[in-house]
Amino acid sequence: MPELPEVETIKNELLPWVVGRSLTEATILDAKLLPDSCVEELEHELTGQMIESLERRGKYLVFHLSSDKSLVMHLRMTGRLLVNPKESDAHVRATFCFSNGIQLVLSDLRRLGVMWLVEDAQAVVGKLGPEPLSESFTPDDLAQRLSQHRIPIKAALIDQSIIAGIGNMYADEALFAARIHPLRKADALSVVEVQELYHCVRGVLSSAIARKGASVDTYVRPEGQLGRAQLDFRVAHRRGQSCPVCGAPIERTLVRNRGSYFCPNCQLL
Ligand SMILES: [Zn+2]
Repeated sequence: MPELPEVETIKNELLPWVVGRSLTEATILDAKLLPDSCVEELEHELTGQMIESLERRGKYLVFHLSSDKSLVMHLRMTGRLLVNPKESDAHVRATFCFSNGIQLVLSDLRRLGVMWLVEDAQAVVGKLGPEPLSESFTPDDLAQRLSQHRIPIKAALIDQSIIAGIGNMYADEALFAARIHPLRKADALSVVEVQELYHCVRGVLSSAIARKGASVDTYVRPEGQLGRAQLDFRVAHRRGQSCPVCGAPIERTLVRNRGSYFCPNCQLL
């Protein structure tokens, strides 16, 4: 699933194509994409709108329109946004044509992606926790938030209301880097451990953005290239392979039904 680094990359690479451009046509091929609106209404409301800005919040993309409304998108498991795709694709769910002649296509194998057209994006993203890479987010903020949750730290890191944008892959990578077992309780970490985790979360996410996201599943960048962050993974998706620090085989366990990769030797319970 696209997490913060993948959605950040999509946002960065879409910006030059769509910002300042007007939508000449919007076609929604799958009504399931719109939990709260009707297809014809949304197509009509989008047509003629200029994209004034595009931002990422957590794993959401927010297109701010000239009508002052916002189109908020979540790609969920397999959603892809592609600029002028060359190959035919059986999983296209929406297409957007722009005044500069480009076509933006939403393709989604599992059809779980969703979008909302709202007066205020806060209606969708307002309950998200802080952005882990924002300057205003501090180790104390993380400590304060974790101290309120007696749940496994892995579950806390991927809870979007505690901290936004982290999913399964980067939670596993950050916990490995901080040498914290995924089943430790969030409210039982020491001050030093939380500080270490804070820096590891930011480090893992920043490196993954520099590598343009991780193409382990269906994720590709808007112009079709793969991301390379998976080449840096030390535990995620590496079950049975050697820990790069101690050589022990990487294990996989379930934390609240999510597969979690860790080193049983470096990350003690
Ligand atoms: Zn190890």
